[in-house]
Amino acid sequence: MANILLKNAVMMDGSKNYDLYIENGRISKKGHGLTDSAENTMDLQGRLVIPGFVESHLHLDIALMNPWDRPGRPASFRSPVELNNALEERRKHFTREDIEQRAGLGIEMASRHGVTAIRAQCHVDREVGLKHVEALLNVREKYRDRVTLQIVTFPQQGLLNQPEMEKMLREAFKMGVDVMGSASNLDPYVSTPADANKYNDVAYEIAMDAGVDLDVHADLGIPKHIDFEELEVVHVARRAVEFGYQGRVTAGHVCALDSAEPDVAKRAIDLISEAGVSVVSQPDMYRLGREDQRSIRRGLTRVKQLLEAGVNVTFASNNIRDALRPMGNFDLLEEGLVLAYGAHMDSVAELEMLMRMCTINAAKALRLEDYGLDVGDQADLVVLDAVSPSAALVGQVEKLYVFKHGKLVAANWRKNEIY
Ligand SMILES: [Zn+2]
Repeated sequence: MANILLKNAVMMDGSKNYDLYIENGRISKKGHGLTDSAENTMDLQGRLVIPGFVESHLHLDIALMNPWDRPGRPASFRSPVELNNALEERRKHFTREDIEQRAGLGIEMASRHGVTAIRAQCHVDREVGLKHVEALLNVREKYRDRVTLQIVTFPQQGLLNQPEMEKMLREAFKMGVDVMGSASNLDPYVSTPADANKYNDVAYEIAMDAGVDLDVHADLGIPKHIDFEELEVVHVARRAVEFGYQGRVTAGHVCALDSAEPDVAKRAIDLISEAGVSVVSQPDMYRLGREDQRSIRRGLTRVKQLLEAGVNVTFASNNIRDALRPMGNFDLLEEGLVLAYGAHMDSVAELEMLMRMCTINAAKALRLEDYGLDVGDQADLVVLDAVSPSAALVGQVEKLYVFKHGKLVAANWRKNEIY
């Protein structure tokens, strides 16, 4: 494997003139004025180097199902439930080859945008069985030199309502699936908070038996009012403490936290923090609040308060060009800008935080090993055409070079533009 010397880089904390020496897929030296000989030496001339973007919540098996030549919602928007039903209808016609082809294209697009790790939600239910799992396992193998892929079981048609699900999920973990997924809102047997808690207890049990982490779709709606005990994430956090699963649980969406009174939300956030539950915000601000006639809600979780309380918060694309969201480019720089608007994050420090959220925080949520830009870390990194993290986000700059395991996997240039 070729040795690479990257010279004159700016790091995420603003420190300048750093050189990174990469050998055997890892960062072996870091400092100023390195003179080691290398097969490839690149003078970055003061550009920003970051560890690879980490896509922490992505429905990869259904991504890119819409026509590529005319992106956009093919029919008018319907309720989230109806959207889901529409997805179910179309999904019946997927073949394994079709899933592999779209997921592979998705990984190539993500890689082009500097993504070096993805946690992919993957449908498992009685209709499709383990077809989607088989497809994503093949894709994980095929693209292992481009992206680290974690696969999460996503029980699209429920868990409590299907006796065969437990067996199927346990089988999935034997096949090499990484993470147990949960989505109580999709289970027809779940209609009360108590039902959701029961559902998540079953999910915990399966996760712990398999020795895998848990990834929960939590509190997806935005009711006009919600109490502390009604929040799904409260129960999930409590159980993380009880079961010794701190640091091993991720809660996606958590939209209803925004519906809670501020004092209730604060209590919940303190508990989430204590439990070490990571929160993934999906800045898809078009899905909820459609019925609002004024003061239209967007369904974002309380990103800033969670961060202030020390919660590990990240954000992700969730759905890309599918029945649920017709937008998206597997580009976390783009999603970060959307979240900056949505969550009112505009100071330099907050823009810098957004860049950490989709890299360092997301890697922590996925518990990626040897992630970062220290000596010994895996050389998964991106050179951005910017001099600082906030300049990268605001300028939506090009990802000039993308490295995975120390190998160049994408190179992009734009011409005649001023940053
Ligand atoms: Zn999701």
